[in-house]
Amino acid sequence: MASNIPNHAPSKLAMVPFVSVEHMMKLVNGIGVKQFLSELSVYVEEDFLRWELFDKAPRLATHSKEGVIELMPTSDGEVYGFKYVNGHPKNMSEGFQTVTAFGVLANVSTGYPMLLSEMTILTALRTAATSALAAKYLAPQGSRCMAMIGNGAQCEFQALAFKEILGINVFRLYDIDATATDKASRNLSGKGITIVKCKSSQEAVEGAQIITTCTADKQYATILTDNMVGTGVHINAIGGDCPGKTELHRDILLRSDIFVEYAPQTRIEGEIQKLPQDHAVTELWQVMTDSSEGRRTDNQITLFDSVGFAIEDFSALRYVRDQLAHTTNYIDLDMIADPDDPRDLFGMVMRAEDEWQATIC
Ligand code: NAD
Repeated sequence: MASNIPNHAPSKLAMVPFVSVEHMMKLVNGIGVKQFLSELSVYVEEDFLRWELFDKAPRLATHSKEGVIELMPTSDGEVYGFKYVNGHPKNMSEGFQTVTAFGVLANVSTGYPMLLSEMTILTALRTAATSALAAKYLAPQGSRCMAMIGNGAQCEFQALAFKEILGINVFRLYDIDATATDKASRNLSGKGITIVKCKSSQEAVEGAQIITTCTADKQYATILTDNMVGTGVHINAIGGDCPGKTELHRDILLRSDIFVEYAPQTRIEGEIQKLPQDHAVTELWQVMTDSSEGRRTDNQITLFDSVGFAIEDFSALRYVRDQLAHTTNYIDLDMIADPDDPRDLFGMVMRAEDEWQATIC
């Protein structure tokens, strides 16, 4: 969006591409949601393979009675990124999204932003791509059936990522609200997968090699009890992602080999907040780089205790930025003040005022 101030001509560096929700939907549909998920998982994997390069810290969370607002920054030394994201489980009953987000990439050498993007849709895509990527390393070989407990906003993205990246073709859906299951079932019809609508979590996990828990409740919930989890299963637990907000009974954790994104953050926010701080966990990047073992035996229960980490958002923004070379689905924002003489910021403002006055007279 060019400025209409006559003498204000921002340089190309000062114009920041902005991807709105509408642009993102066009981008996803233009690429195809399955291809988007699969290419995005490659970007996430590339960044996990160079994990040690990144600046890492637990996200900065501002909690309230109703939810949380978080800032998630990271940098690979050349590019900096952050995401603003909220989590408000009560929003859904008021007709709002539980999770909304936007994010920025910036050039480390100038500090100038390079991309501003919606990330509500992008977070669902990156979470699904990361879950499926983790399962590629941890789930039993030849898995074909996944239970999906919690059929809200993330559900269909998760299902399509697991179909595309792992070849899962049977999904057993359960939600305490049957209309959510009906919605997911409708959205997933005609996608080459079998949907089984279940009446309980217990029914949903029957015969599933992978169990995804994706519910939203600001409490220590028990979506899965110990007796529901058989040997050899992979659990993709994504809904427990805040202090005081978990989904699994503690006994399941004690029987599982636990894999996390970034341990210092997951110990605060993940399922493992219920375990002692020194309980052994493995970071996913260590499995990807062969510095730690993933699944060793058929009987092992693997648990991906996902909370969502800044590097996944960085990868997602990096993917979107690369797509902008092939699309016009964005606008340029005049976001950085860019006076001809960098020290004459004040002069630029005053000249603009003079020119406005001249236009009025
Ligand atoms: P949503 O509010 O759209 O959907 C949540 C669904 O869970 C609702 O349909 C609700 O009816 C259902 N539910 C609640 N309690 C249940 C129970 N006991 N049994 C079965 N279903 C139940 O939320 P969403 O956007 O789909 O997100 C789901 C969860 O995933 C949230 O907790 C969110 O914070 C989390 N999340 C995690 C990541 C990550 O990276 N780990 C990323 C995005 C969202």
